[in-house]
Amino acid sequence: MPLKFRLRGLAETFVEEIRCPCCGHDGGDEGDQGFLTEFTRVTYDGIIVVIQCEPCGHVFVPNGQKLGVINSTKLRSAVEKDSWNTGQPIFLGMEQVRLEVERLNAERGSKIH
Ligand SMILES: [Zn+2]
Repeated sequence: MPLKFRLRGLAETFVEEIRCPCCGHDGGDEGDQGFLTEFTRVTYDGIIVVIQCEPCGHVFVPNGQKLGVINSTKLRSAVEKDSWNTGQPIFLGMEQVRLEVERLNAERGSKIH
């Protein structure tokens, strides 16, 4: 069953299947067990789902995401407001999110060693 991530009236993203590229964890019967979504980013392109695998701690961007933007003007202002509130940089789209994910994994690696 595809998983749905939604910001009401702004954007929604469907993910067909989540499987950890590091340890192969696939979320069990429900497809979303043992995954944390706290790194998911809202960008100008829509919601880009970022998953952290609980069993192994790896952070990844699941393949096959279908990004839908419902209201791009409101989405943009929500992204800007969020950036203002949190002090985080604005994420424009997938490329930036992928770089962030690489950084998170590198940080995690350096904590272990
Ligand atoms: Zn894993």
